[in-house]
Parts: sequence; C-alpha cells; structure tokens
Amino acid sequence: MTEQTPSKKLLIALIDHLQDAVFAIEAGRFVFINKQMSALYGFTEQEMLHHPVTEFIFHEDREMVMQRYRARQQGEQITNEYRFRIVTKLGEIRSVCMRVGIIRGADGIVSTVGSLHDITDQIHTMSALATSQADIESILNNMPDVFYRTDMTGTITLISPSCQSVIGYAPEEMLGENMSRFYCDQADRERVVQAIKAGGGKARQVEACMRHKDGSPMWISTNAYIRVDANGQPIGVEGIARDITDKKRNEERLAELGRIDHLTGLLNRRSFLEEGEKLLQIAQRYERNLSVMMIDLDRFKSVNDRYGHQAGDLALIYFADACRDVFRKTEIIGRMGGEEFAVIVPETGLEASREMVNRLGRRLKEQPFQFEGQTIVITLSVGLVTLSAHEQSLELLLNHADRLLYQAKHEGRDRVILADAID
Ligand code: GH3
Ligand code: MG
Ligand code: MG
Repeated sequence: MTEQTPSKKLLIALIDHLQDAVFAIEAGRFVFINKQMSALYGFTEQEMLHHPVTEFIFHEDREMVMQRYRARQQGEQITNEYRFRIVTKLGEIRSVCMRVGIIRGADGIVSTVGSLHDITDQIHTMSALATSQADIESILNNMPDVFYRTDMTGTITLISPSCQSVIGYAPEEMLGENMSRFYCDQADRERVVQAIKAGGGKARQVEACMRHKDGSPMWISTNAYIRVDANGQPIGVEGIARDITDKKRNEERLAELGRIDHLTGLLNRRSFLEEGEKLLQIAQRYERNLSVMMIDLDRFKSVNDRYGHQAGDLALIYFADACRDVFRKTEIIGRMGGEEFAVIVPETGLEASREMVNRLGRRLKEQPFQFEGQTIVITLSVGLVTLSAHEQSLELLLNHADRLLYQAKHEGRDRVILADAID
C-alpha cells in the first residue's frame, strides 16, 4: 500500500513540473507555492510563504479577488475561473487567469488551492491584433479607392465602403455578385484578367470601363494580384481600383482638341492627313473609288478688309457649317490652313464628287453669309482629282488637286477643275 501511495516529495516534484503556477492559501496567506509561482512573481518561496495574498494582487483588482475569496470561504457559488492582475517583484503588472477551489480539512481548516496561468502576452497579442484590425478597417473605410477581393470565379467576397461613392452601389449590393456584372462589357473584365495572368499573378494600373449604378460608363485603374493559400494554391483576386473617369475624360478632350481646328471644328491638317490615309488604304485594298478635293475661298482677304477680321472668322465658321450640311458622315473635311480646305470623298468618282461641290456652291449662294445685316456671297475655287493606278499616295493626290485649284484661280475663280480622265 505504502509503495503505491505517492510520497509528498514526489507530489511536490510533480507540481513543480507543471507549467502553471500553483498555490495553496490558508487564512489569507500562502502556505504552499510551486516553482512556477515563484518564477511568475520573481519572489523566493520565503518572500511569499506566510505573506498575505493581497500583497501579491494588483491594487485595482484586490477588492474584487478578496470579495470572491471570502464568498467562496462562506460556501457561496463563485466562479472558479477568472482573470485579474498581479504585480511582480520588479513592479511589472501581469494578467493571469486563475482556477481556484477550496478544500475543507477534517480539522475544520479551509484551504484554497489554485493555479495561475500567465495570459499577459496573449492579451497583448489580441489587443495588438484588434488595434491593427481597427487600423485596417479605418484605412479601408476612409480611403477613396476601392479595395476588393473576389474568389477565383470572380464573385466579390469583400469590398470597401468607398464603392458607394465610386460606382454608386452599396457594399451589400456588390457582395456575392460576380465582378463581371459591373464592367461595361465582358472584354473589359477579360482585359484585367489577362493582365493579371500576363504579369505572373500581378497587374498594375490596368484601365477598364465599368458601369456606374446610374448607367453611365466610368473608368477605373486597377492594381490587382492573385491571392494564394498556405499551399500556394490560388484562391482569388485582391485589388485596389481607382476612379480615373475625370482623368480619362480630360485625356479624351485633349486628344480631341489636338485633332480639331479650334475655329471651325473641322479636322486640323494633321488629323485630316491621318484619317485620309486610312480611307486611301481601304480604297486601294478593295479597289474602290475615292476622290480628293482642295478648296480655297475666293478673294477672302477682301472679306477681312471690308468687314473686319471677326467677320472673316464668322465666314469661315459659316463655310464649315455649309460643308457639314452638304457632305455625308463618310466624307472627311479638313482645314488645311487659312481659308484652304480639303475633302476626301470615299466610294465616289469624279462626276458624283463634282455634283457635291456644285451643291456646296449652290448652298453658299442660296443661303449666303450674313454679317451685321449685310449679305456676303462666298465663292470657291476647287481642284478635284480621283484615285488612279499611278497616284498611290495621299500627298500626290493632294498636290495634284492643289495644282488644279490654282488653275481654277487663273481661269477666273468660282469654278471646279477636274483631273483629266486620263490622269
Ligand atoms: P484668292 O484665294 O482668291 O487668290 O484670294 P484670297 O484673298 O483668298 O487669297 P490669299 O491667300 O492671298 O488670302 C487669304 C486670306 O485669308 C488671308 C487672310 O487674311 C485670310 N485668312 C486666313 N485665315 C484666316 C482666319 O483664320 N481668319 C480670318 N478672319 N481670315 C483669315
Ligand atoms: Mg483664297
Ligand atoms: Mg488661300
């Protein structure tokens, strides 16, 4: 029997090997502590044993712990596991979780036994985590860009509240929906996906058109990357999208301004040549007709001289409007300089083009330019050529039309000179 009952020495050795601090209290004083208890506090056994336990509790928690201690002594049902703070020998405050119970000896002595588990680091970690989570949330809630996550099928799993101001939808309206629903068309989403693939799982500043809740198209620039799990398996896409609609509109406006003649709204020389080149290539590839005309307003200097420069400007605007009336959308009209204009008429030969110029001439005579109550009839000199086997470039066609235009001036103005059929 005695061999099977563990000796007191063995029990103490066991208790000393426990990870938790273990103690026994009688009449409010420690009567036993294990090594961990002394390590936790930094006090020796002598410094703790027979000392009132209150000395070892952080003063703010002392009353609460002692009330529970007394209540337990009196047999009240008191929670046997709770947290409080202690003060170590070095004055450090640490948080512990205590498990405690009482033993009533045959001699009537009530002992309290328990263990303390140091949870200070755990609390610090948790509060650091909570702080960093709060920080992240505050960043997400306040940033103007939209932070989002999707799974691999494109279903939105997380989206920051800024989506409301950017794309018009509340986060609840977007969560669980497929991202493709919000792009202008499938090709836009495909472009983002392709850019991520091409970038080896990462894409920077991919521009795409999305549809605002109000139906209007809007532009975003996305930085996105593929998220992977612990095993490196892709689990979804995470990205930040910025509204670049204003920037995009400004770019378009600038590009448009660079293409357009400010006064007349017609194409400027450079963009006329660019657009003309495209039409010429199509005509050559498919062996289609294409005519080119150079137009110069007759004696325009005298309009300025007689009515002033402003009248001249208005006359140029009036002429551009007349051109837009007479020519179709397929024709391109450029202001080549001063009061010289060029028109490219696709799918049309010399005769039909001449008819167009005549219509323009008639329009100028029938609805003449009016300035401060005066009627100013504007006439034109025009050189008209058509694409032929040996005129391969736009430059040659325009030069040819220009020569014919000068011929028209020489022959008395207000007329159209056509290239010879053999040209
Ligand atoms: P023609 O072509 O019949 O030989 O005579 P023109 O008087 O039209 O010829 P010229 O080329 O000598 O003069 C063109 C004039 O067009 C010169 C300039 O006063 C006027 N002009 C050119 N650009 C503008 C413009 O933007 N505004 C105004 N008001 N006048 C312009
Ligand atoms: Mg002129
Ligand atoms: Mg001129």
